[in-house]
Amino acid sequence: RAMSSITVPPPKCLQKTFVAPRRHMFGPGPSNVPPRILAAGAEPIIGHMHPEMLEIMSDIKSGIQYAFQTQNNMTIAVSGTGHTAMECAIFNAVEPGEGVLTAVNGIWGERAAEMAERIGARVNSIVTTAGGYFTSEEIDRALAKHKPVLFFLTHGESSTGVVHPLDGIGDICHKHNCLFLVDCVASMGGAPLHMDKQGIDILYSGSQKVLNAPPGTAPISFSERACQKVFNRKTKPVSFFLDMTWLANYWGCDGKPARIYHHTAPVSAFYSLRESLAILAEQGLENSWQRHKEVAEYFHEGLENMGLKLFVKDKNARLPTVTTIVSPPGYDWKEITSYIMKNHNLEISGGLGPSVGQVLRVGLMGGNSSKASVDMVLEALRDALRYCHKSKV
Ligand code: PMP
Repeated sequence: RAMSSITVPPPKCLQKTFVAPRRHMFGPGPSNVPPRILAAGAEPIIGHMHPEMLEIMSDIKSGIQYAFQTQNNMTIAVSGTGHTAMECAIFNAVEPGEGVLTAVNGIWGERAAEMAERIGARVNSIVTTAGGYFTSEEIDRALAKHKPVLFFLTHGESSTGVVHPLDGIGDICHKHNCLFLVDCVASMGGAPLHMDKQGIDILYSGSQKVLNAPPGTAPISFSERACQKVFNRKTKPVSFFLDMTWLANYWGCDGKPARIYHHTAPVSAFYSLRESLAILAEQGLENSWQRHKEVAEYFHEGLENMGLKLFVKDKNARLPTVTTIVSPPGYDWKEITSYIMKNHNLEISGGLGPSVGQVLRVGLMGGNSSKASVDMVLEALRDALRYCHKSKV
């Protein structure tokens, strides 16, 4: 046989068939994807600019408008995860040298600050303890002091388990001539949110939490006020991929008759996202908010009955989608999460950022938000506390 030109042989590991394990995905995300959404994602690929695809994109736009409660024309899904939408918001709304204020009560405000710094913005932050949130007066004062063009706030702080109040903040931002940017990756569909009524200028989410779609697409919407800023920039945004001038055309939001190729849409991911938004629309947004609230309360009561403590003291500030439990004293949280994964085939996670080592985090989102899931988690925790304790004595 002739000498092969190949110097890197075909990897042996690829000869094995991969089968994904079946798990209860009760961490802060991704959540379990129901068969109907998986099936949608398994449909054959069509061209990303075929008429059927443009129709799917239009359906997705309507679904996001419903989920966000907005009439904004500038509503799309970014090809990428929650972080991609976060950068899309900041990169398009802010020019180098402009001021950004971020509210930091967990990791997301820190990350938003870093993204804004990377594009040369002047960044200031207001900071509170993990588990806390900000009053309107604190926000008002900081906006008056720093005069930013953009204020970032996380609605569902998944690293600490806090749902931030939103009413009134949009008006405060506008009084200070500032755009109001909100992260609802972990809260959309699981806690009340009204983009238009609450005066939110830019809102983004993710596909892999309450929507129960695979990770990789991220809803985002811009108000008329935000569009005024985004489309009247002096400089181009640093990212070609995330430039809203391109994306607006790609999503048919710019009123131009022709769509110009920008990037190849993740076709299967859009099928799945469309299906997940269809399910939310079928179930009804308010029913979904209510179910998440009731299930979370049932869960919190069960935890307290077991003698566990909730990390967020203020009941009204508890995020219904992601619960933070004070890491049980005397236990190693890693041992608990590993035990539960190994023996119950169930994912819960430890803390993130400021809550590392302090909490266990349990996410019950979308289809996973049910009393049956709660019972499963409580049983797993009870078992882990028994076993992990014994192993320590
Ligand atoms: N914001 C919040 C509140 C989140 O919970 C997450 C995901 N954990 C993100 C942003 C980032 O999303 P992704 O991991 O999809 O990039």
